[in-house]
This record gives sequence, C-alpha cells and structure tokens, in this order.
Amino acid sequence: MIHTDALHRHLYATDASIFREIPAGVAYPKDADDIKALIRHAREHGLSLIPRSAGTSLAGQCVGTGIVVDISKYLTKVLEINAEERWVRVQPGVIRDELNVFLKPHGLFFAPNTSTSNRCMLGGMVGNNSCGTTSLVYGSTRDHVLALHTVLSDGSGGAFQGALARAFEEKCRGTGLEAELYRQIREMLAPPEVQAEIRAQYPKPEIHRRNTGYAVDLLLRSNLFTPGGPDFNFCTILTGSEGTLALPPKLRCTSNRCLHHTM
Ligand SMILES: Cc1cc2nc3c(=O)[nH]c(=O)nc-3n(C[C@H](O)[C@H](O)[C@H](O)COP(=O)(O)OP(=O)(O)OC[C@H]3O[C@@H](n4cnc5c(N)ncnc54)[C@H](O)[C@@H]3O)c2cc1C
Repeated sequence: MIHTDALHRHLYATDASIFREIPAGVAYPKDADDIKALIRHAREHGLSLIPRSAGTSLAGQCVGTGIVVDISKYLTKVLEINAEERWVRVQPGVIRDELNVFLKPHGLFFAPNTSTSNRCMLGGMVGNNSCGTTSLVYGSTRDHVLALHTVLSDGSGGAFQGALARAFEEKCRGTGLEAELYRQIREMLAPPEVQAEIRAQYPKPEIHRRNTGYAVDLLLRSNLFTPGGPDFNFCTILTGSEGTLALPPKLRCTSNRCLHHTM
C-alpha cells in the first residue's frame, strides 16, 4: 500500500538535512515481494523510489518527489549469525547499536560507529558507506559488507558477493539483469585507457570515506583487473551508492571480535 494522504507526505518531506520536498507517497514494505511491487508501480508511473531507513543523512538523500520507501518499520530482523566465521545476516532496518547488543554475548561487534548509531540502520549505513570514530582502525561500512541480496530496477533479484575470477565468468554467462550487470562492468572497465583515466582522476585512495560517485576505482583493484587483488565484489560499489543502484532487503556483514570496543 502506498500512502498518498497529506499527513504522510508532509511527514516524509524532510530528513536530517536542510532540504524539503513533498514526496508522491510513502510505503512501508514488509518483504522483497512488496519492494518488487513498488518497483513495478514506480516504472509504470514514471516515479522514482527513495529508500529510507532512519533518515539521518545530511545531504537530502532521503528527500525527493518520488515514493519514499521506509524500510525501518518491518524489515528489522537479525536473520542469522555465524559467530565462528564472524558474520551476521540482517534486514536493512536493524539499528546499528541494537545489532551490537545482539552481538555482544558472542564477543563480537559491528565496527562502523557513526554519531547516530543509536538510531541509524544497516540499510542506510550501506547506502552512504557510514563510518565514524573507529574508522581509522576498522574502516567504513564498505569494508564490512560481505553480501547484499537486492531487488534490481526490473524487479528481479540480484545476490552480490565476492566472486573468484571463474565465478565471475559464470555470472557473465547467465541470463537476466544480474548477468547483464556483470557483463557490462567487465566491458566498461576492461579498456586500459579507461582504467588509466579512472586511476588518474579519482580521489586519492587514502581518502577513506568518499561518496562522490560510484567507487569503480576500487573495483579496478580486484583480481579481475589487478593480479593479487581481492575478489571482485559488486558490494564495493553498491555500498555508498545511496540507494540508486538497488534496494537490498537483506545483507550479510562481518563482525569484529570485541577487543578494542567499548559500548
Ligand atoms: C548529528 C549527526 C551526526 C552524524 N555523524 C555521522 C558520523 O559520525 N559518521 C557517519 O558516517 N555519518 C554520520 N551522520 C550521517 C548519518 O547519520 C549516518 O551516515 C547514518 O549511518 C545514516 O543511516 P540512516 O539509517 O539514517 O540512513 P538514511 O539517511 O535513511 O539513508 C542513507 C542512504 O542510504 C539509502 N538507503 C537507506 N536504506 C536503504 C535500503 N534498504 N536500500 C538501499 N538504499 C538505502 C538512502 O536512500 C540514503 O541514500 C551523522 C548525521 C547526523 C544528523
């Protein structure tokens, strides 16, 4: 259901930024099927979707004239934990500090530590690659996302995680939008002149948190393009893409051992 009454539209006209736009409507999806239905509806009516978790972003990311998709109401579950392998699978509306309360008995914690950690949610942290006081030691959210289960713009599912070169080639041979994305990124990043331009023009790699554009330079560091690099992982650019590439109803992230963390 999409709420188009004046109250809902005015309530969601602002976030933590200075901007204000009255959206066309507001929706509270309960699962991936609801998100698929929203994507279908938005395509049919030429509207954009604006994913929103806690809405604490500062640059107007959750404000716009399309349909605000508030995932904070229903998509709030921790789905699975593997303490031995130190990962946890969650829905995007899990609050960062509540995740750490859940992880504490396992001697683990999710490291990125924003000032808004008592309300910001994992979906939003992935959306804007959040970091915070611990980032020099533990890195930003991007460094902790292992896999994203997403819904893509045609309503199909896209499950993204690290892929060895052989698995990447298998993905490219598949059908549907997900396979198309793997083929496209390979074609786009393969030409040496493109690679040279990206390496020359992107901000310095030492600047850890930078959300000005998709982090395709980091994809170039994968072993697909740079021998000895990490496995290719689309989560690298999905994290920090501000909800513009896909809408994840589920994600899997690493947890650190509680050695330096105080909560
Ligand atoms: C006082 C204050 C202090 C702050 N301090 C910090 C700080 O220390 N470090 C820091 O990094 N940031 C900080 N921020 C910014 C912000 O609070 C954080 O980045 C926070 O992690 C964002 O989380 P959120 O749940 O509010 O995301 P939202 O603002 O709701 O969303 C963030 C982005 O992710 C997208 N998004 C949300 N959910 C999904 C989804 N399910 N699928 C796809 N895209 C999605 C949104 O469209 C948006 O582009 C601060 C903000 C304030 C107001």
